[in-house]
Amino acid sequence: MENTACFRSGELELSFLCTENGLSLASVRDLRQGCALLSAPGALFTLTAERLSDGEVKTVRSDADFRRVSVTAEGETCVLRCSDCVPVPGLTVTLLLTADPSRSRVGFQTVLSSENPDYALTSCDDPTLWFDVGEGVRFLSPYGCGEALDSDSERFGHGYGSSQDYPSYGASFQFMAVWNERTGRCLYYGVHDPVPAAKKFHFHREVGAPTMQIKASQPLCCIDRPCNGQTLYGTCVWQLTDGDWYDAALLYRAWAEQNASWLPETGPNGRTDAGWLNDVDAWFLVHIERDDFADEILDAVKDLGVRCGVHLYLWHNNPFDNDYPHYFPEKPTVRRELRKLREAGVRVLPYVNGRLWDTRDRGTEDWEFTSKAKPMATKDRNGNVFTESYSAKEANGEHTVLAVMCPSTALWQETVKGICDRLCSDVGFDGVYLDQIAAAKPQPCADRTHNHLPGGGGWWMERYNDLLGHVSRTGDPAVLATECTGEPFMKHIQGYLSWLWIKDRQVPAFPVVYADRVITFGCSYQSIQDMDRDGLAIFFAQSLLFGEQMGWLSPKLYREMPERDFFRRLVSVRAELHRVFHGGRMLRPPVLSDDAPRLRCEKDMQAYFHLVDYPAVQGALWRDADGKRYLLLVNASPSSANVVCKAELPDGAYALHGDLTGELALQNGSGKLTLPPCAVVWVEA
Ligand SMILES: [Zn+2]
Repeated sequence: MENTACFRSGELELSFLCTENGLSLASVRDLRQGCALLSAPGALFTLTAERLSDGEVKTVRSDADFRRVSVTAEGETCVLRCSDCVPVPGLTVTLLLTADPSRSRVGFQTVLSSENPDYALTSCDDPTLWFDVGEGVRFLSPYGCGEALDSDSERFGHGYGSSQDYPSYGASFQFMAVWNERTGRCLYYGVHDPVPAAKKFHFHREVGAPTMQIKASQPLCCIDRPCNGQTLYGTCVWQLTDGDWYDAALLYRAWAEQNASWLPETGPNGRTDAGWLNDVDAWFLVHIERDDFADEILDAVKDLGVRCGVHLYLWHNNPFDNDYPHYFPEKPTVRRELRKLREAGVRVLPYVNGRLWDTRDRGTEDWEFTSKAKPMATKDRNGNVFTESYSAKEANGEHTVLAVMCPSTALWQETVKGICDRLCSDVGFDGVYLDQIAAAKPQPCADRTHNHLPGGGGWWMERYNDLLGHVSRTGDPAVLATECTGEPFMKHIQGYLSWLWIKDRQVPAFPVVYADRVITFGCSYQSIQDMDRDGLAIFFAQSLLFGEQMGWLSPKLYREMPERDFFRRLVSVRAELHRVFHGGRMLRPPVLSDDAPRLRCEKDMQAYFHLVDYPAVQGALWRDADGKRYLLLVNASPSSANVVCKAELPDGAYALHGDLTGELALQNGSGKLTLPPCAVVWVEA
């Protein structure tokens, strides 16, 4: 009963195992290297369905739950069809494969049909990529700016996995990759969905297993009705190429440039609608605690000596995460202090939440929530409102319970617009920070009275972009910013707060794709406890190299932190090279090795196990809009470092700028330098 079907595209060969129980991915081969990337079978997809009468959930596996599988291959296409589903009779899953042999690429489209009168289909995977784990086999997680993780990491001994919502802080973009550092070969995994629909991105390895998986999955729409057949959004693309995460990022960028719906207009200095935000090099984070709050900001700005922005919290009288969205009136001295800041050229973004309405929105009283907001809040198919609670409490000691508003509703669109207009045209702010929009997951709202189909799909991003377009086109805010870096909101949001980019093993995949499209700013140095010296210094360096507008420090932390001179030095270099980071592109980072002790911090509250561990010297290669290249190296350690640097620049002798004089000589792409402690140097080519 078993048979194996092979499908080739250029140097990529996939084989599928068909049995009396279903369909598996049996092997993945690199025909150029003549080696297997996968040598044990794994399920090609899982799907969930919910019985509408009682909510019972069935999980269907491709390799265990279908009694009939057919494979029809013809030329550069192949159709895999799974039917006779045992747990959900009447379900058929069809995968349409298309080869692009010139690129060793296979595209998958997944089509679901269901004749089952009892179950609604609720989620389905894009095809799952399994691969053999091993030393030097690494993969890209889409968390934050991107993470390059080891497939055989012992640090994650008890299960190794992550499941992150897209778009959110946990999945900024729609691609992953697996590469082998020994062979220099890379398998790209991208979901090319230009809308885009809500998704999850997963990686998982069972303890001790010889293989692991990466995949996307999609929450489905029309989850309140049976027979909700549909086609998954986008094309799932697997492509074999040379390289690593960087090459994968270029493949995604090339696709996005031609197809993505979320790209803003850009010119030689980056996006054309960023206004004053384009001029900023560093940020202060301020929670108003005193009436004359501008004075200490101005002292810090003067000391830092570059153009600064301020992210201002608690400008309103209601407590944080309480009584939203009723922010007005502002605190009594806000207008006066804003004038002081503006006169000094300091721009201010006030904090507002872009998603939530407090269910007890006047102290402990339900003032307008039930009467006004509840019909427009997100709900499951049984009418239960999706709510969230954080650390904030009501006056009676109970946690505040905040409803997630539905972005499709006129009420929420007008509420957000009204707040933004008043902040900018009346109070005098320079833009608005709308919290959570690019950080929190799309909710699968199933309220049929709203202007969208129930469940997943592309409506969340489309309606949020309607809302943001409405705010920016018809209103007063000069610029908008939001939390984290979920990609599809950047069309109308100029600034992304990169506060969470303080994890271990980060790679700048997001800047490689988007540095010239959206402005990133700030790291959460507050999350590094006890002002740990190495923790701060690592991310001072990385934030410069990744192109962020730096800082997001409170004036107090700025005054008291260690290595303040190092921070100031890096910020001054950012200001000097400002044009490189606004409109420039990040190129393949240099490969560095150095002999200084590694930098290690075990107090980073946002990192796995609170641990970050980086080499002393980090580097980046950028190209400005005129094509000039800049190789930057930063030694963030208190020791001097002998560094060997390999970079994609022509051989030659390059004048050093920054904290060294002389030249960097590159021969066969490689050169040596001795960097002083806490130093930055660059060459221009
Ligand atoms: Zn809704």
